[in-house]
Amino acid sequence: MDLRLRDPLPGEPPEPEPRDPDPRRGVPRTDAVLADPRLADAVGALGGTIVKEAVARAQGRVRAGEIGPADVVAAALDGLPPRAASLGPVLNATGVLLHTNLGRAPLSAAAREAVAAAAGCADVEYDLSTGRRGPRGRGALDALLAACPAAAAAQVVNNNAAALVLAATALAAGREIVVGRGELVEIGDGFRLPDLLASTGARLREVGTTNRTTAADYAAAIGPDTGFVLKVHPSNFRIEGFTAEARVADLAALGVPVVADVGSGLLAPDPSLPDEPDAASALAAGAALVTASGDKLLGGPQAGLLLGDADVVGRLRRHPLYRALRVDKLTLAALEATLRGPRPPVPRMLRADVRDLRARAERLAADLTADLTADRTADAAGRAVDVGVVDCVAVVGGGGAPGVELASAAVSLPDGLAPALRAQRVVGRVEDGRLLLDLRSVDPADDARLRAAVLAAVRAAREGN
Ligand SMILES: *Cc1c(COP(=O)(O)O)cnc(C)c1O
Repeated sequence: MDLRLRDPLPGEPPEPEPRDPDPRRGVPRTDAVLADPRLADAVGALGGTIVKEAVARAQGRVRAGEIGPADVVAAALDGLPPRAASLGPVLNATGVLLHTNLGRAPLSAAAREAVAAAAGCADVEYDLSTGRRGPRGRGALDALLAACPAAAAAQVVNNNAAALVLAATALAAGREIVVGRGELVEIGDGFRLPDLLASTGARLREVGTTNRTTAADYAAAIGPDTGFVLKVHPSNFRIEGFTAEARVADLAALGVPVVADVGSGLLAPDPSLPDEPDAASALAAGAALVTASGDKLLGGPQAGLLLGDADVVGRLRRHPLYRALRVDKLTLAALEATLRGPRPPVPRMLRADVRDLRARAERLAADLTADLTADRTADAAGRAVDVGVVDCVAVVGGGGAPGVELASAAVSLPDGLAPALRAQRVVGRVEDGRLLLDLRSVDPADDARLRAAVLAAVRAAREGN
């Protein structure tokens, strides 16, 4: 008989002890085992079903005479999967530099240190020289203005979506936002910019067509109800062929404020991404306000950057909604350190020379081959693990530069290793039946970690076979 069948349901009185002396004598009752604080903890973290199954397996081992009754708790704990739900570090070997599911931009070492240093009490809104309250996050705002001198004022909110919500609420609630039809984008995971803007109470006034919108289309729609003209960078797709779009400079000439969502967070033009808009150029062209993300090409923490005219930024800062969207001290610390340098990982990965990536891949493949040989190269079926090096193509990711292909190099492994490697917290990509570990999205400082993880994954996969 399976002991699990006797488990009391929640709220049911526990069943009396079985009278049958053999062979279950001495098997600790499920409710008594579950009362152990370590298992109670595990129920909180993993859910009751998984933990009860582990307890039942341990009880089965007592019945089978494999372990003593006193060992049931330890055996049940042993049989639990690792705490799956906790957020932790992952190596992004997907070749997608800005992988939203993997936390977008990895912070620079300086930014990580700044976060740790600000984690206690910090002068986030305090002036140590006067002993009085000071402007919140002044260091980050000063760094932002230093990095983008075209802006007269700056503010920071939770993310670019929050920046747009704040702008729409403060500048256009109950009025119209004039926007081109080709720029009503879906950011990802079902979040659509038009829905986001409409949720603020602003009305969207769509102009032009999907592929062609001219300054005259905007001019015809502008009227007394216009809150602002919105220019959105289509950052995750491209429209090619018979296309036209109005430039910020043309729109700024129409006499209403222009808000430019540049998306990626480039503060100044980047010659390696000639089609990617940047804050300085939009402001120079006459935009009253630029919004952007902090954790895309800027390579910093999740944040929404607001850069622009002092009066417009001031209106946003004073709006009650700002208080609900502002960022915490950790974000401010990370942003300031990102902006002050040294250059964070994402812009470095973007510029990495493909020959260096290839050299890293060769070295890693050679090291792994040696490791695996020393580790008895043959797998369970007697075959060696096939480690190779391939040329491949990395991408910036949904966060920017759609269509830009970045020449890259990868270590290639059997695709069956993907789950074991994920268990080691490494995510690669499967291409043409091979698992590729694309080195453009891996910080060179992590190559040793990657090597150790592959070795551990191969061992685990062998044991699992
Ligand atoms: C990414 C993106 C957003 C959303 O930014 P979050 O910082 O993720 O909120 C909005 N607009 C554009 C053009 C984007 O590229």
